[in-house]
Amino acid sequence: MNAAAAGTPPTGRRRFGSFLELVGRAVDEGVDGAGMPGAIGPAFRTVLAEDDWLQPEFARPDPDRYQQYLLYCDARRRFSIVSFVWGPGQSTPVHDHGVWGMVGVLRGSEISENFELRDGALVKTSEDALTPGQIISFTPERGDIHRVRNAYADRTSVSIHIYGGDIGSIERSVFGADGVCKPFISGYASSRLPNFWGAA
Ligand code: FE
Repeated sequence: MNAAAAGTPPTGRRRFGSFLELVGRAVDEGVDGAGMPGAIGPAFRTVLAEDDWLQPEFARPDPDRYQQYLLYCDARRRFSIVSFVWGPGQSTPVHDHGVWGMVGVLRGSEISENFELRDGALVKTSEDALTPGQIISFTPERGDIHRVRNAYADRTSVSIHIYGGDIGSIERSVFGADGVCKPFISGYASSRLPNFWGAA
């Protein structure tokens, strides 16, 4: 057993593996982004409440930039799950997604500032401050432009993001303050995938 696996009981990781199967079944059944919070939200909250499954290498901050570790991608790329690790004060640019998404906090706190494009200008419409166990969701149809940041200036926060596609390879947009958008592909920081079913 390696050092990373030693810190995470297999039972917790297998429980997260069961959650992945639940999300896959919802996608198989044709649940859309608007229906996902009802279909998988309660189980997602349980996953966030039981913080014993994320292997330390997928919760490691980087001093220069927030990290996006791919935890799972459906073989048909219909959904992916990513751990976001925020060093103190780190934030994303304003961006969209092009697919549905759900975001929940595992550790610390994260703030999502939500925007709309009105007559070509970026307008902030609301803000969500999330603490462990809290979830937000979005769809392109209802608006999916936001900027996310660590609520803390002095510690790491970790959140779990679920997307209706292989988010790291999707061509989407980042927005400047003037509303001008630029193409953006986020990629992933992971060099390997975690194992949620086996012993290591
Ligand atoms: Fe986002």
